[in-house]
Amino acid sequence: MQRIIYIPFDHLHRNFGAMKGAEPKTDLIAFVESARMTTGRNWNPARLHFLISSARHFAQSLKDEGFTVEYLKAKTTIEGLKEARAIHGVLPIICAEPSSFKQYEQLQEFGVHFVANDFFLTPRPLFKEWADSQKNFLMENFYRQQRIRLNILVEAKKPIGGAWNFDKDNRLPPPKNYIWPQYLEHPLDDIDRQVGDELSYPPPTTWATTRSGALAQLDNFINHHFAEFGPYEDAMTTDNWSLHHSLLSPYLNNGLLHASEVIDAALRAFETGNIPLASCEGFIRQIIGWREYVNGMYWFFGPHYRENNQLNAHRKLLPLFTDSNKTSMNCLKVTISDIQTRAWVHHIPRLMVLSNLALITGVDPQEFLDWMREVFIDAAEWVMVPNVIGMGVHADGGQMMTKPYAAGGAYISRMSNYCKPCKYNPKLRTGETACPFTTLYWDFLDRHREAFASNHRMSQQLAGLNRLSDLPEVNERAREVLEGLSKGQI
Ligand SMILES: Cc1cc2nc3c(=O)[nH]c(=O)nc-3n(C[C@H](O)[C@H](O)[C@H](O)COP(=O)(O)OP(=O)(O)OC[C@H]3O[C@@H](n4cnc5c(N)ncnc54)[C@H](O)[C@@H]3O)c2cc1C
Repeated sequence: MQRIIYIPFDHLHRNFGAMKGAEPKTDLIAFVESARMTTGRNWNPARLHFLISSARHFAQSLKDEGFTVEYLKAKTTIEGLKEARAIHGVLPIICAEPSSFKQYEQLQEFGVHFVANDFFLTPRPLFKEWADSQKNFLMENFYRQQRIRLNILVEAKKPIGGAWNFDKDNRLPPPKNYIWPQYLEHPLDDIDRQVGDELSYPPPTTWATTRSGALAQLDNFINHHFAEFGPYEDAMTTDNWSLHHSLLSPYLNNGLLHASEVIDAALRAFETGNIPLASCEGFIRQIIGWREYVNGMYWFFGPHYRENNQLNAHRKLLPLFTDSNKTSMNCLKVTISDIQTRAWVHHIPRLMVLSNLALITGVDPQEFLDWMREVFIDAAEWVMVPNVIGMGVHADGGQMMTKPYAAGGAYISRMSNYCKPCKYNPKLRTGETACPFTTLYWDFLDRHREAFASNHRMSQQLAGLNRLSDLPEVNERAREVLEGLSKGQI
């Protein structure tokens, strides 16, 4: 053996990262299941199961190919790598650039040699070049450049269909009397069951843990959901937990799928003529736009960005985040219990229900970030930090997004079927039955009136606030609501 290739649990692809060009004759492959990773925090067991079982399956596939594989359990990653060297000699250790600042630093300090991280479509220096050239970091500008650079849905540098974005055709509320396609189940195998036993957790069949399962999920999305992806992308309904979302983020993030494979499959389907442009463009934007942008911003902003708290939010994490019985708000009950069941809800509950609540109640951004990191199947530092600190709770003072995503109950009522059976009324802002989102939205704007005064994108909202004749009553109700939420009684 000439070198040790270290495979972190989010680099599980044979053709990318350090495995690209690896040879069974010369390369020993090391995986480390560290106790810090498995027991360090209050992880959702669905997430732990998914990550560990995927890594073990990938390790097995490399053994089947003829590689010598060390799958080590150790206290920390570095302890594990020391063990690999103790067994096989002090060989050079190679790894693709890790996906978090912390792991980058630890491995660099230990002397690991990095090869470029090509799990994304945008090299980190290229993103930095773009960000350095911008006055503000509008995702839409980055996305248009990506379309041209990657030659996707463009002709002569112009967008096909005459527009870059078709969101005006999307954003529909949930349909009524609609037949949703069946979910794809992923039957468990011996490795899945073994990991489940070790975690004392019966895993759901929601998530694949193999490359072939991830590819089946991709096929399922393309064949049964892609055409309708656009219109219902922002809708929320108790009729169906995943709607037409792809459920591909876990595999994109742990390496079982590469973004280029997903884009190729989407474009091939689009070429058949059966996929409306609005759905195709909307989906492509998520992958070559949002996903790449968020990763780029993580590296661009640096390791201290996650500590931002520019709205001075210091409320402790609300009890309802960890226990759906601690609230009567139907939207939150449904969202939190969905997360407990399968560690996933789509982007609108993440943004407009969970983050919106944390934002307008003033929950400490780092406490909220930690909770989000622990509970989602697809969570990773690079993706959660900008999504939560920048987009979700505006803790960076607008460095990433020009205005906060704060909204009252009317938005949730329009985009979901959550409000009808709820005891709170989204149209009311005062009184015992007022929707807490509606009350707190106005109270939030009032609390941060000065901070937002110079933001021209907030002028409409502030003008609305100035027109409220019952602001003192709203503030009074907001105090009661905040107290009730902190006690788990609203
Ligand atoms: C507050 C907040 C937290 C989030 N946390 C995560 C996270 O920890 N991990 C994660 O992968 N996504 C995160 N997202 C983005 C998005 O919610 C999920 O990627 C999506 O819900 C995953 O489901 P899907 O694969 O069915 O997505 P689809 O709706 O089918 O979208 C396709 C793909 O686009 C990518 N994508 C779309 N939006 C984003 C985004 N904002 N950031 C990064 N990738 C994006 C994902 O890879 C996703 O798989 C977060 C969004 C918000 C607003």
